[in-house]
Amino acid sequence: MKILLVEDNEAIIMGLQYLLEQEGYACRIARRRREAERMVAGEPPDLMLLDIGLPDGDGYQLCETLRRQYTFPVIFLTAREEEEDVVRAFDLGADDYIIKPFRNRELISRIKNVLRRGSKEREVLRCGGIALEAESGKVWVNGEEVTLTRLEYRILSSMMACPGKLFTRDEILSDIWDLSGNFVNDNTLSVTIKRLREKLGDTEGRIIRTVRGMGYRMECRGT
Ligand code: CA
Repeated sequence: MKILLVEDNEAIIMGLQYLLEQEGYACRIARRRREAERMVAGEPPDLMLLDIGLPDGDGYQLCETLRRQYTFPVIFLTAREEEEDVVRAFDLGADDYIIKPFRNRELISRIKNVLRRGSKEREVLRCGGIALEAESGKVWVNGEEVTLTRLEYRILSSMMACPGKLFTRDEILSDIWDLSGNFVNDNTLSVTIKRLREKLGDTEGRIIRTVRGMGYRMECRGT
């Protein structure tokens, strides 16, 4: 895990760098806002620790700018007198904040929390321009959100979890039978797949492939 520390106080930098490396994080330092922007553009970190007062701007501006393009979590490092202002940090997309001087153990546990939260939220399956987020049940096609029925979603999420695997019609039918509690016949399955393909912009069946006489297989080539 790579952490970018954006901070201009040398004493804090020294202490934190040592602490983070002890904990097994790779730590890079930016002492200015511009430097942080350059480093993120070069290689975005997994998490950013961000001081508010920087020599060439403030942490709020930096957070706002980065949020337009990146989703990695940001924890603000703030002085006690800045605490009231910290609600602004959340508005700008911060994930947490900690007041200086902080206890090392508390900072590490906040970092772990934020990283854990983040990895769950960002668990997204991708295939041929389709993205599916299990947590929210949302599906996007080339960045545009599409609305699926429960049956369509169920079929798509099973197939996206195992790209390349053959799903026989019987397998899919018994799976969605459990879901709906009603009998889903072979014809309903064909119609559902057809609608699903339409919503995915896959009318020719290049992503959800028909395996003749058997079932369907998801094809993620070229992604
Ligand atoms: Ca500072």
